[in-house]
Amino acid sequence: MENPFVYSDTNKRYHTFHYFLKQKFGCKVAKISLDAGFTCPNIDGTKGYGGCTYCSAKGSGDFAGDKNLPLREQFDQIRAMMGKKWADTKYIPYFQAHTNTYAPLSVLKEKFEEALTFPNVVGLAIATRADCISDEIADYLGELAKRTYLEVELGLQSVHDVTGERINRCHSYADFLEGYQKLVDRGIFVCVHIINGLPGEDREMMLQTARTLSHLKLHSVKIHLLHVLKGTVMAKQLADGEFELLSREEYVQTVCDQLELFPPELVIQRVTGDGEKESLIGPEWSLKKLCVMNEIDKELVRRDSWQGKNYIR
Ligand code: SF4
Repeated sequence: MENPFVYSDTNKRYHTFHYFLKQKFGCKVAKISLDAGFTCPNIDGTKGYGGCTYCSAKGSGDFAGDKNLPLREQFDQIRAMMGKKWADTKYIPYFQAHTNTYAPLSVLKEKFEEALTFPNVVGLAIATRADCISDEIADYLGELAKRTYLEVELGLQSVHDVTGERINRCHSYADFLEGYQKLVDRGIFVCVHIINGLPGEDREMMLQTARTLSHLKLHSVKIHLLHVLKGTVMAKQLADGEFELLSREEYVQTVCDQLELFPPELVIQRVTGDGEKESLIGPEWSLKKLCVMNEIDKELVRRDSWQGKNYIR
């Protein structure tokens, strides 16, 4: 069957990050996840203690480099592993672990500017919380975005404050909008992370998150599946029967519904995620990531559908 989706040169019926990067840079570009040793205001007590209930000891940076190593060494190690797979690749250092704007501006500048000097780097990605974007930091990021390709990745997870409270997120959707607006006003690309399968959320709530985000000026989204990891608060809640994990079928249906609601221009950086095998409690089916992605592709074909089919402008 011919693919009717315009932002694709493969069988994908959604606007993949791979497609976006190829159009923009004309070559293979990969993110390299780094751990700059920051912490998080939701862990150190500034906003809350203990962190979001799903957060791992590595601050949701489980595949990032080793924080005990200098950034350049982390970068070189990961690049060496990737280089075997992809010669001539360009890179985007991705400040992933914990909250990467939660430090004095001078410290942020030092780390971000250093990463820009690494070989074959074409831009930066910075993951943070929307309530950690001061005007001063936003001004600097705005200036940075004029010099290089820059994405700021904001963890939101859900637009529902009731869920935010349940997962101890310690910021509201209104707080998110405030930080998001500072970035958009300065012309910065914003990528928002959402999680499907959070405790207390039914399918309609997850679709409401997609519907609400579809009307913002986002550059991209990352759709994650909730992974429950050993040692987290959520692991205990799951063991106590407080919620259930999504099945693969439920997840695939929900993601396809969300893709239909998003505008076709929106870049989809992820349609699932992966937890570290050793620390994953569930769902186990998530370890077969390619399989999940294939099921999403197949379901869109079965529906004769694509990203944006149900988007209301
Ligand atoms: S905001 Fe991120 S780093 Fe901080 S506790 Fe939540 S998941 Fe962990």
